[in-house]
Amino acid sequence: MIITIFNKEVEVFIMWKDNVAGLYSFYISYKVMFGKVIFTVPEGEKVGIVQLADIIMQDWETIEKQIEKTKDMYLVKRTRHELFLLLKKYVKKYEQIMGVKVVRFKISPKPMKDIWANCRGRGYLTFNCQCTQLPERVIEAVVVHEMTHIFYKDHSRRFWDKFEEFLPEARKRDEEIDLYTDYELLDEEVKRYVEQEV
Ligand SMILES: [Zn+2]
Repeated sequence: MIITIFNKEVEVFIMWKDNVAGLYSFYISYKVMFGKVIFTVPEGEKVGIVQLADIIMQDWETIEKQIEKTKDMYLVKRTRHELFLLLKKYVKKYEQIMGVKVVRFKISPKPMKDIWANCRGRGYLTFNCQCTQLPERVIEAVVVHEMTHIFYKDHSRRFWDKFEEFLPEARKRDEEIDLYTDYELLDEEVKRYVEQEV
């Protein structure tokens, strides 16, 4: 659905949500992702364009910035095997470039909570199976981020300096990863809407 706000066309998507057991929320909330305003509306609630437009207009300054920031986001439909091959490609590439060895990497059997990947010991990497949905350039940044942890476990200045050595605009690429960390937005409903074929 397109709503025109101050002469600008805004793409709006409504996600209908059942009231989760015990958590009766009658509020309409929204998030700006994928360059669209994604509303969460309790199932059965009646909403009209005017009401949604009102909500957007109230926060227009912020929303407009977020639309700009997230407009290049998209999700990808990919199998675990395809993800595995991509990870392998980048692990190999950056082993060469970074001069480190990844002892083993794997894809988590179940979604990992709140993280895209982790690095244990000196080179044991686990990637969240939800990475299947990330664009390739984001996957590359996740790989380099985790491989930089082989040098430094923390997110200190030296970590970022190291990261930057191997991936130009590392901070920006990392912010790009962050845009995708709202796992709720990997919701089936939203996915159908924002997924692109590779
Ligand atoms: Zn990290």
